[in-house]
Amino acid sequence: MTDTMATRLAALEQRIAQACERAGRPAGSVQLLPVSKTFDAEAVREAAALGLRRFGENKTQEIRQKADPLADLGLSWVMIGHLQTNKAKDVVRDVAEVQSLDRQELADALQRRLEPAGRSLDVLIQVKTSPEPSKFGLPPEALPGLLAHLRQACPALRVQGLMTMAVNSDDSAAVRACFRRLRELRERHATAELPLARLSMGMSGDFEIAIEEGSTEVRIGSALFGARSYAI
Ligand SMILES: *Cc1c(COP(=O)(O)O)cnc(C)c1O
Repeated sequence: MTDTMATRLAALEQRIAQACERAGRPAGSVQLLPVSKTFDAEAVREAAALGLRRFGENKTQEIRQKADPLADLGLSWVMIGHLQTNKAKDVVRDVAEVQSLDRQELADALQRRLEPAGRSLDVLIQVKTSPEPSKFGLPPEALPGLLAHLRQACPALRVQGLMTMAVNSDDSAAVRACFRRLRELRERHATAELPLARLSMGMSGDFEIAIEEGSTEVRIGSALFGARSYAI
């Protein structure tokens, strides 16, 4: 079989379904978020032709570059990368959802921009579950404080759940521990009014482990679009 985006997507969907089955979870309980960072608008158009509608990106400038030539498709852009507070305006203009909310200052900046626009925004809180210093995310012990602040001061942000990146390691037990930590944080902090239903965890190299640990959404770049070069 030739290697095309269509065959890669079919293979991914099969692996997701198989991981659900192994974990005793219903088929369809895990969404695929294609991550198009570093891939050009034509690659996104090809993915859209296969039925994909939401795309993860990690830079607001890159969303802007792709949103214009693809405006005819009505796609939704999901921010999954570290956001500087001064990008809140660009987020409100171009982004449907932020999965990388990692601090109160960013929440306040988004709230300030959303309120006058009469808009609200779905957000996931990115939690740092790995010891790697390079990873962004809220320290787990700061989660209750941020949730309380969002409830009191940020009505325009609709908190849907939690997001994490696992440690980048060949040690699958260490990777699994990161995903498990996120699920346990949800179990500890979910309430009836804020069920934190979504857990965005798992990438091309580790999504099957994430599904076994309860992921509801896997963020997949290279396994769908091909190997990344950072030339863009
Ligand atoms: C790039 C990226 C992904 C996708 O990574 P792949 O290994 O290409 O699947 C997922 N999540 C985040 C936050 C990313 O930056």
